[in-house]
Amino acid sequence: MAKIKTIGVLTSGGDAPGMNAALRAVTRSAIYHGFNVKGIYRGYRGLVENEIVTFEAKDVSGIIHRGGTILRTARCKEFMTEEGRQTAYKNMRKNGIDALVVIGGDGTLTGARQFASEFDIPIVGIPGTIDNDLYGTDHTIGYDTALNTIMWCVDRIRDTANSHERLFFIEVMGRNAGFLALNGAIAGGAEAAIIPEISIEVDQLAQLIEHGFRTTKKSSIVLVAESPITGGAMGLAERVRKEYPQYDVRVTILGHLQRGGSPTARDRILASRMGAAAIDALVEGQRNVMIGDDDEQMVYVPFSKAIKNEKAIDRQLLAMLSHLAI
Ligand code: ATP
Repeated sequence: MAKIKTIGVLTSGGDAPGMNAALRAVTRSAIYHGFNVKGIYRGYRGLVENEIVTFEAKDVSGIIHRGGTILRTARCKEFMTEEGRQTAYKNMRKNGIDALVVIGGDGTLTGARQFASEFDIPIVGIPGTIDNDLYGTDHTIGYDTALNTIMWCVDRIRDTANSHERLFFIEVMGRNAGFLALNGAIAGGAEAAIIPEISIEVDQLAQLIEHGFRTTKKSSIVLVAESPITGGAMGLAERVRKEYPQYDVRVTILGHLQRGGSPTARDRILASRMGAAAIDALVEGQRNVMIGDDDEQMVYVPFSKAIKNEKAIDRQLLAMLSHLAI
């Protein structure tokens, strides 16, 4: 393998608080180890369209506390074609980039794996997504911040829900994964979480109402993962209006609010550790691995494992949530 001199870094897919902290750590750690750094704008689009600039240590000053990503992010259809990836590779070489660090979710890592299978480039992935849905890492960057935002919102909705004795469905992000809904429900003291992992097996709404989830309380809050499988908060509210008209039901969709804001200390530390670990991985000759957090230790997870396997939800937590809601 040729010696690495210059490392390119990009953020891709959905933005997540803490991506900037990761970018800072990648840049500074790379420079510390004697590499040059190139920042690639708008994810894979910047590679295809050659939006690439040299990054110095000062270029990542004053960003650790900022949400979003200063490199911007995008979804790039061209990169999903062979032609697009060829153009990306040419631009990479033109800019002298010998290795890549990509910060993003499942799609970003899938793209990285494809790219690495076609061209001889070492790539290291950093899991950055609020959904926490990547296998091989206990936490992804942005998840803790989003969870805290959800908790903050649930606390506020509880006040009005209590006053009016209402049933609230609060929709949170998580297309295929219920981590935000389940842990947001636990942190917010909600009555239940309706998540895609369970929706395929049981009618969670019917189960909830049959168990009389509103026996001792004035109000009820149910967190719902945004997903066609759960039916979403709107879909569930419609059902309640038709099937259980005794409930005064309301819906709040948190939406993109969950993506913004200054990252929590936990996310900043995770992002800093993962960014530094990505450079360590390249120094050690690793390639095509994602950095994972395994019980507070930084580990290397092959792309194949991280992408293919589904991260399981802890069903004991779901049971606990319902026990605590009596
Ligand atoms: P999030 O989980 O927050 O949505 P993500 O990284 O999964 O983030 P995606 O939009 O799924 O976001 O993927 C980001 C980009 O990765 C895509 O726009 C595309 O450029 C690239 N990508 C995804 N899948 C592939 C693939 N199979 N082949 C090549 N590139 C891909």
